[in-house]
Order: sequence, then C-alpha cells, then structure tokens
Amino acid sequence: MIIQLEEQLNKEHYTAIQKLLSSLQFKSMDVKTTEGHYLVCIGKKETDIRLIGHLPGVKDVHRVSESYKLVSGKWKIKPTVIDLGGGVKIGGGPLTLMAGPCSIENEEQILSIIEHLKANNIRIMRGGVYKPRSSPYAFRGLGIEGLKLFSSLCRKNDIKIITEVMQVSQVEEMYPYVDVYQVGARNSQNFNLLDALGKVDKPILIKRGMSGTIDELLQSAEYIFSGGNEKLMLCERGIRTFENAYRNTFDINAIQVLKDKSHLPVIADPSHGVGIRNYVPGIAMAAAVAGADGIIYEVHETPEEALSDGQQTLNFEESKKLVEALQVLKMACK
Ligand code: PEP
Ligand code: MN
Repeated sequence: MIIQLEEQLNKEHYTAIQKLLSSLQFKSMDVKTTEGHYLVCIGKKETDIRLIGHLPGVKDVHRVSESYKLVSGKWKIKPTVIDLGGGVKIGGGPLTLMAGPCSIENEEQILSIIEHLKANNIRIMRGGVYKPRSSPYAFRGLGIEGLKLFSSLCRKNDIKIITEVMQVSQVEEMYPYVDVYQVGARNSQNFNLLDALGKVDKPILIKRGMSGTIDELLQSAEYIFSGGNEKLMLCERGIRTFENAYRNTFDINAIQVLKDKSHLPVIADPSHGVGIRNYVPGIAMAAAVAGADGIIYEVHETPEEALSDGQQTLNFEESKKLVEALQVLKMACK
C-alpha cells in the first residue's frame, strides 16, 4: 500500500496516521522526494483502505500488491515526465532520442558528434567516461577529466548529457557535470549504488541487467525511488539468451510490459540490444512501435576507429537515416 501525504502535514496528523498503521499491523517506510511525501506500507492485503483514506493529512491511498510499489503504474495515473530543462523532456508522448559514442575519446570526437546531433535535432548526448569492460586491457574511459571536457562542450552547445556512473564514490564528483546518470547493465543490482542515487536530485536511467528479469529491474528502480529520487527511467538493453547469432537478445516484449507495469519512461537501447550495426535501425524502429518513450543509440563519425563498441555503432549517414525513418514512423502512427 502507498499513502500519499499532504504537503502541509502536521506532526499530530502524522502521529495519528502512524498509530493507525501500527494498530493494523503495517510496517511503514517514509519516502520523501522533491515531488512528494509517501508512506510505503507492508502488511495485510485485506485491510479496508477507507480506514486510512479519511485521516487528516492523507492525500490518497493506493493498494499496490507487487513487490515494487512506488514505481508501479497502479497508483499514478499520469506517466512520469523527466524534465532536463531548456525544453528537453522525456516521457509522456513524443519519442526522445539520445545518441553518442560508446566512449568519450577526445575533443575532436565530441565536437563532431555534437555537430551531428544538432543537425538532426537530437538534444541529448550519450557517452561513457567510466567504461565497464570485460577485459581489463580494453579502453576503460577518460574518467573525470574526460567528463569535464564532455560537459563543457555540450553545455556550450545546449546539449544535455547522459553518462554512466559505476560506483558510489563517483556520484558526487560527477554531479556538476551530468544531466542524467546512467546505471549500466552490470550495475543494475548494485544496491549500494542505487541507494546513493536515491539521494541525488538528478535523473537516473537504469538499465536492465544482462540476465535480469523485468521484475528485478523494477525492484532496482524501487531502490532509487524509495531512497528519495523519483526522476527515473527504465532501459531495455537486451538480455543474454541461448541465441548467439548476435550480442544480446533485445526483448521487445519488455517495452510493452514495462509500460504497462510502471509509470516511468521506458527507453530502448538497440545498440547493446542487438550489438550489430546493420540491425540497430530496425530494432530501434520496432521499439518505437512497441511504445518506447525514447531511444538511446551509439553513433560515431568513424565507427571502425571507435575505442569501444564500434561494431554496433552507427556512422553519421546511418544515424541520419534512422532519425528520418523514426520521423516518418511518427507521422504514420499519428
Ligand atoms: C554503454 O551504454 O556503453 C554500456 C556499457 O551499456 P550496458 O550497461 O547496457 O552494457
Ligand atoms: Mn557501448
């Protein structure tokens, strides 16, 4: 059960609510975000919620029986919209594109991609400076200095940034330079990191783990929301299956299921989802038709020379064609 509390809640009302909850044998947890104050209550299913609903200080009460509560679509009618400022929003209608290299490499690379994004009306650039790599000998990113450069060039060009945070100690140092923190597939159940991201007031995109279920993704998102941050997005990026004709199996079903189960924006990552450049545009289109709120994909001027994930990265021409195709799709779906 979720209790939404009034903004002007006084102490007596709060105490009376808590008293009733304990008499009904509910355990409750306080969640305060920039948007609201909630009590997440765990207890008996058969309680008559009208008993609670009439109490002063209670705005609304919702029965949510899933293991995840605040990220569930059961209590929130309107979809969550993430506002990055400057007119850049994610969720609630139009398809948002985020594109950029797998890894941030140097100034020239950043600038060429910014130009490409601007020419195609893409307002959010992706790019990792902390790279989780299977091999310790592979390029592992430029680190915080790379992020500072990435950020200053994007800010000058009115482009927002999404980049991966890999560990708790990076959250604070990255804070001034990011617009959206990305939690990668390998960290989808790094609960310490999720707790830390619950304490920041910037949006988080959380990816599904490589072998994570939809339910586990939602519970991971619940960690962040219950920690105090409701600016959240979910990302399907493909899962490991027995199929080895491509890097990962993009789970198109997950787009529909997540949209149904949660009020959070759902973002598709076709680049990691299939892992082969030629197939990326088709999977991106399929995800848009399935109802994704946004697409995040990898692009580079010369993918053959990219320091990571070149095999799944679109070149500028391919990226431009994808943007145009998504535009046509949007018209067709109107
Ligand atoms: C990435 O976005 O470059 C990345 C490493 O993604 P994932 O966590 O989905 O593998
Ligand atoms: Mn990548």
